[in-house]
Amino acid sequence: MSGTRWLTPATGYLSGYTHTLNPYTGCSFGCSYCYVRRLPVALFRGEPWGTWAEPKKGDPKRLQTELRKAKAKGSVTVFFSSATDPYQPLEASVKLSRTLLEAMADEPPDFVLLQTRSPLVARDIDVLQRLGRHVRVSMTVESDREDVRRRLTPSAPPFAARLKALAQLREAGIATQIAVSPLLPHSPGFAKLLAGTAPRVIVDDYFRGDGSEGRRSRSLRMPEAYEQAGWSDWYTPEAADALLRQLQSLLPEGATGFSVEGFAPPP
Ligand code: SF4
Repeated sequence: MSGTRWLTPATGYLSGYTHTLNPYTGCSFGCSYCYVRRLPVALFRGEPWGTWAEPKKGDPKRLQTELRKAKAKGSVTVFFSSATDPYQPLEASVKLSRTLLEAMADEPPDFVLLQTRSPLVARDIDVLQRLGRHVRVSMTVESDREDVRRRLTPSAPPFAARLKALAQLREAGIATQIAVSPLLPHSPGFAKLLAGTAPRVIVDDYFRGDGSEGRRSRSLRMPEAYEQAGWSDWYTPEAADALLRQLQSLLPEGATGFSVEGFAPPP
């Protein structure tokens, strides 16, 4: 069996975590604003980002050994996943993320943030319940406008399906949050919808969330994409500031967060 190491030391934007865990290389969702498009994994592949995704080779059960060793050295906090979505369409049959979660349930890290935009995560409620207080599911919901999703991230699951999965997770007692990341053009009732669906909401944008003060988003030609859609008024940090203020008025203190601090593991 290959010597794949599942845990990678976290750096940069995610340095609040000790490790990242990416079960797949590539990502079928292919969001237009995805920063991974500019990373070597995407640039050297020679195929357009969003057209390929494959499971990493290696024994997922080895994660348990890696976790045991890492825990012997101190606190272990895992961001799952940073360069792919752990619930690729392929995951429905491959079940690699599920097996990795099972390994984590057997040797729990202090905390794992399961970051996804796929309702398939609700399939694994039983394993997430075993992880209990060690896990929080963070569902990306960047807007409530399907016309916006179809234009900027057409291969990602519809927002309504994500919200439904979140409700199922919450009902099953799993800790959840919504990551509005990056914030996209949305309806006036968006903040209310978010506050009514999750106990915690994190907001991020193209300017403070790309780890380069907006340069990566500019290199992905996001300002041009907004201009072509007639959405230039939305391409400003004030949009995220305004949503955050609305959310703060609707949710209890401490239940909202912004960018890096919002995504950080609990103290
Ligand atoms: S789901 Fe995440 S990793 Fe996949 S393309 Fe979208 S932003 Fe990139």
